[in-house]
Amino acid sequence: MHNGEKFLYKRNPKKNSDFCVWLGFPAVYSFSMSSLGFLWLFKLLDETEDINVERICSDTKETSFLKPDVFGFSFSFDLDFLTVFSMLEKYKIPLKSSQRDESCPLIFSGGPVVSANPEPYKDFFDFFIIGDGEDLNLEAMRICKNSKSKKEALKRLSELEGIYVPNLSDKVKKVTKRLSECIYTPIMSENSFFKNTFIIEMSRGCMNRCGFCLASYLNLPLRSVPYEDLLNTVDLGLKYTDKIAFLGAQVSAHPHFKDLCKHIYDKIQSGQNIEMNFSSLRVDAISEDVVKTLVTAGQKNSTLAIEAGSERLRKLINKNISEEQIFEAVKIARENGLKGLKFYGMIGLPTETYEDIDALVTLAKRIKNENKGFGLTFGFSSFVPKPHTPFQWIGRENTKSLEDKALYLQKEMHKNGITAHISSIKWDYWQAVLSRGDGSLCDFLIDVYRQGGKLGAFKSSAKKYGIDTDYFACSNFEFDTKLPWDFIEVQPGKEFLIKENIRLYNGL
Ligand code: SF4
Repeated sequence: MHNGEKFLYKRNPKKNSDFCVWLGFPAVYSFSMSSLGFLWLFKLLDETEDINVERICSDTKETSFLKPDVFGFSFSFDLDFLTVFSMLEKYKIPLKSSQRDESCPLIFSGGPVVSANPEPYKDFFDFFIIGDGEDLNLEAMRICKNSKSKKEALKRLSELEGIYVPNLSDKVKKVTKRLSECIYTPIMSENSFFKNTFIIEMSRGCMNRCGFCLASYLNLPLRSVPYEDLLNTVDLGLKYTDKIAFLGAQVSAHPHFKDLCKHIYDKIQSGQNIEMNFSSLRVDAISEDVVKTLVTAGQKNSTLAIEAGSERLRKLINKNISEEQIFEAVKIARENGLKGLKFYGMIGLPTETYEDIDALVTLAKRIKNENKGFGLTFGFSSFVPKPHTPFQWIGRENTKSLEDKALYLQKEMHKNGITAHISSIKWDYWQAVLSRGDGSLCDFLIDVYRQGGKLGAFKSSAKKYGIDTDYFACSNFEFDTKLPWDFIEVQPGKEFLIKENIRLYNGL
């Protein structure tokens, strides 16, 4: 089907079944080949004897696939809805589930965006997978296969933990998978965005619980892959490629992170060619051994998330790293052979003032002055409140005030010879609308899509549908305000988030 693919598992081609699942990826093929979750789900279904499965990307041209009974989408970014819509239309499938009859496939989606808050998309999908979908997907597909009608399938699906069927489910409990096995790139390809790279998931979640971080709160508790399994998977990957990347919100929290680095380092020292990459590292994970391993394995730069410039604000968001730790990390990185570091931060975090922005500039200036000749870049985005985090109740600053701050930050950095890249404040605003939105956005989203999906389309569609988008993006909610995603139970629960919010605000 796709040229140059190498399957790392035994496929099951003799399928005595005409039941077919399409797995949709709302981006081009090369991106899909770097998406572990998408490829792993494909593998699970591909290994299943009585289910045919096809991968459909936004640039798929193939037309000879079996007609799908179910069409599922991976939904990882707020704006993915635009590509999902265009893919549905490409296959002549009406966008709204209410417009689809028995001849249309069941349409579902899963991934972090819809696991956190599926409500803005509830009119488009027959069901949603809420949480870690690996095992649940298979069970859901069996139900779809063994049901006589869509109605029967949806009724049975609504009884499964972790599945949300709009209009049928009241409460939905997010499912959390034990990471008892390692998930890795099951299909290698020259045409992948990360060419010929074998990606291994080391851990899921992050125990640092920064107040804004969906990846942490949606995935508590932190789970790590058993070390032995990790080593066996590294060996498997090295049979096919010398490029290994480790994935996880916080890879350095793996209890054997240092052992793993040593293991790879020793292999390289004994003559094996390995290029290794970690998704990103926390400041307090930068040690001599870690940097030496990275450098020996060909990595030249790394990313450090500092989030905010002042210690006060870092403490408030639960990013408990001191200025001294940051300087120490840069020193270790430089002295042990890295060529540069990319710093990542946010503006518009709750309670932020211009003093905090000045602190960012001072910090950047000091890092630059003390590390002449070392490559430093600074990237910023703006705070977007996310469901299921302690900051879910906190509205975003208005766009004008954030744009002023962004401009000020850029100017002050520039005066000191530092370039600050800042994401689009306007796009971040629409992300916030979607992130805290509800079912009243569905028709608006179709209109945005019809009008081309650019910034202007968002603005004019909101006006046309009379939607108070500031309410979703910028309002501060009370703890007892009913939130659109309250019906999703995520461990450890709302009471815990309220306590976290109070604790962070009181600097405890
Ligand atoms: S350290 Fe990173 S992944 Fe962990 S909670 Fe903070 S922002 Fe999220």
